[in-house]
Amino acid sequence: MSSAPTAPIASPSPAPPVGRLAPSPTGAQHIGNARTYLIAWLSARARGGKVILRMEDIDSPRIKPGATEEACADLAWLGLDWDEGPFVQTQRLTLYESALEQLIAQERVYPCTCSRRDIELAASAPHAEHEGPAYPGTCSQRPSASALDLEGQPFAWRFRIGNAVMGYTDGFRGEEKLDLQEAGGDFVVWKSAGTPAYQLAVVVDDAALGVTEVIRSDDLVLSTLRQLLLYEALGLRPPQFCHVPLVVGPDGRRLAKRHGDTRLATIRAAGVAPEALLGLLAWSCCWIPRIEPIRAQDLLPLFRLETIPRTPMVLDPALLRTIGFRSGEG
Ligand SMILES: [Zn+2]
Repeated sequence: MSSAPTAPIASPSPAPPVGRLAPSPTGAQHIGNARTYLIAWLSARARGGKVILRMEDIDSPRIKPGATEEACADLAWLGLDWDEGPFVQTQRLTLYESALEQLIAQERVYPCTCSRRDIELAASAPHAEHEGPAYPGTCSQRPSASALDLEGQPFAWRFRIGNAVMGYTDGFRGEEKLDLQEAGGDFVVWKSAGTPAYQLAVVVDDAALGVTEVIRSDDLVLSTLRQLLLYEALGLRPPQFCHVPLVVGPDGRRLAKRHGDTRLATIRAAGVAPEALLGLLAWSCCWIPRIEPIRAQDLLPLFRLETIPRTPMVLDPALLRTIGFRSGEG
């Protein structure tokens, strides 16, 4: 009997990704945030994935009232939807506490009583101003149980980085490798104020919420290397990390007030259509050849991570005028 040609067996397709949008309500969302959210949303949705929304509000003294609602309104205006959330970090403190307990039990963290000034004084190596000096290891000999002797005294929990050279493969940038000792040394996972540090909260959340893909701006590569150490210490499976370039002003510095008002709320209030802004962002990622209005969902078939330029997007007033917006600069 003659056999009919058999159809190639489809390889099992990988599970759809779970992406996330994680605004920090310490300030208003601007065009730079919008570009990263758009990329993260498209990457998950283009492969039939889920999107989770989380508010990173543990930095509570700096939280702006109403910023959570405004961030949701900004995303909805852009046409970026989500399946779960918003999850709010300040409502998830017990999860972070149990992760800290796990790290304490494993002696992966130690109590550190150093003030910022102590660290400045002890550090001899020059350091990048925004990072501060590398932690010199003053308290690293303390066993975690010695925290009991520190009652009444403020202390932070610091993570022992151990073997300091850390690497991973970034979904956008490729191989990354960094000496974490030079890049800050042992880092804080629990602040002396009694609240979790960003690094710990984000790892616990992304793992608990089943996030498989994290797309964020490339100023967070150092954070990722630290977070990978936490994933390993907590026995959690890390997501795929992709770091995309920031949006900068004409002076090459990251988008800020000095570049005029590029807040999404202001752009919205000025009557600019979301499709106009999306067209500008899509053009900057080389998904469309000209700046013209387009909806987020119409970008799904056009999305390619690899066409995004490796250099930052330079946002100047002339570019904003093409979508009918004046930022007040230039
Ligand atoms: Zn210390």
